[in-house]
Amino acid sequence: MTMTLITNPDLCTGCNRCAYACSARHENMFAPALARLSINNYPLQGYSVPSVCFQCKRPDCLTACPEQAITRGLDGIVTIDADICTGCGKCIPACSWGMVSKHPTTGKAFKCDLCGGDPACVAECHFNALTFAEWEGDTAKNKAKQMKFRNEYGSPELKRDAFGKSIMNEAGR
Ligand code: SF4
Repeated sequence: MTMTLITNPDLCTGCNRCAYACSARHENMFAPALARLSINNYPLQGYSVPSVCFQCKRPDCLTACPEQAITRGLDGIVTIDADICTGCGKCIPACSWGMVSKHPTTGKAFKCDLCGGDPACVAECHFNALTFAEWEGDTAKNKAKQMKFRNEYGSPELKRDAFGKSIMNEAGR
């Protein structure tokens, strides 16, 4: 059974609790810039869009890594082994959604690992904008709909912003 993180931007308030919880889990500090997900806020439209790793079935980050530091487990979780990662950064532009980043301290690449199957962001989102569900049925349809908004070019920040604007436009905001 493959579980996946799914977002519902219509329910997101932009409070950023998820990003604080993520950085606390992975970095032992409240540092949203180091979170494995991010929230794009569009104050004029009153809309916020969470960007999360889609744990792609054929991950471009994995293909781009020359060191085989990125693997996809039987549980569908795509992880980076920091002991193998050399920090070359090739996986970062390879991700079409800007969900791989370079750690400012270690220089290694980092991304969402779904907290090993118990995502801290989901537990902390009190508005159900983030859910963890089986990758099938409506979840798969919702995910496929969001995944169509690929952004091939630009920095991770620009890709996430372009993704957020696409979702916002889709929502008619
Ligand atoms: S905790 Fe939920 S509502 Fe708040 S920013 Fe994150 S996804 Fe949006």
